[in-house]
Amino acid sequence: MAGMIEVQDLHVDFSHEGRIVHAVQGVSFSVADGESFGIVGESGSGKSTVLKAIAGLVPSRSTALSVNGRAAQQRRAKADRRQLQFVFQDPYASLHPRQTADQILREPLIIHGLDNKDDRIAAALREVGLKPEHRFRYPHQLSGGQRQRVAIARALILRPPILLLDEPTSALDVSVQAEILNLIAGLRQANRLTIILVSHDLGVVAHLCNRIAIMQGGKLVEVVTAAELRSGNAEADYTRKLVAASRGFTRA
Ligand code: ADP
Ligand code: MG
Repeated sequence: MAGMIEVQDLHVDFSHEGRIVHAVQGVSFSVADGESFGIVGESGSGKSTVLKAIAGLVPSRSTALSVNGRAAQQRRAKADRRQLQFVFQDPYASLHPRQTADQILREPLIIHGLDNKDDRIAAALREVGLKPEHRFRYPHQLSGGQRQRVAIARALILRPPILLLDEPTSALDVSVQAEILNLIAGLRQANRLTIILVSHDLGVVAHLCNRIAIMQGGKLVEVVTAAELRSGNAEADYTRKLVAASRGFTRA
């Protein structure tokens, strides 16, 4: 059976100041329906670019790149865009500063012509643990964690089967990171979401994901299970180095 997300021999090149950057070089993996898949690696290893290629946000080459059975190149229709939503690192940058949480959540409902907007907005806020009093606040009137909750609510309000999370807790205080990770874990279960979570932090990825791809220099080093990582059973030297460097993870 084909996976919910299929990536085969994916390549992404950028041209930057007259040079070609091979950001992603022959990456392949498959994510099953309902799975949470992690991608970990140093800054610049190509993690975000893989997510963007899956979402069709950057041009790419591959032998196969499909989401829910649809090839990436064909995903142009509005309905296809509802399949998959993104949550980014910095909710402050990704939320419009002059829109209240209500307006931010209303926009996708308008674009996609959904009814019962007020009820859907109230439910979405409740689902991410926000109170009615947060509904008409602007991003600067919310804490970092609350802003990321609004960004997650916006991603889920169209009920997509797939959520792509790019460093969703990296911009947050350490004390808030676990809260948001637990929220994502709960939402994943309640909504049977398929998730790809990208982070430079092994601990974050191992908290949420059962299989984890290790990336280095645009290439996929290996795919390991969280259990293999914890027991130090990774194949590649690079993965073992990454685990050793991540003290928080080895303590956990
Ligand atoms: P990561 O998310 O793992 O930190 P990225 O996927 O953002 O890595 O970047 C991978 C490589 O591609 C880096 O060398 C980065 O500088 C380069 N890159 C990413 N986006 C662009 C772009 N739009 N133009 C030129 N180079 C880019
Ligand atoms: Mg990145």
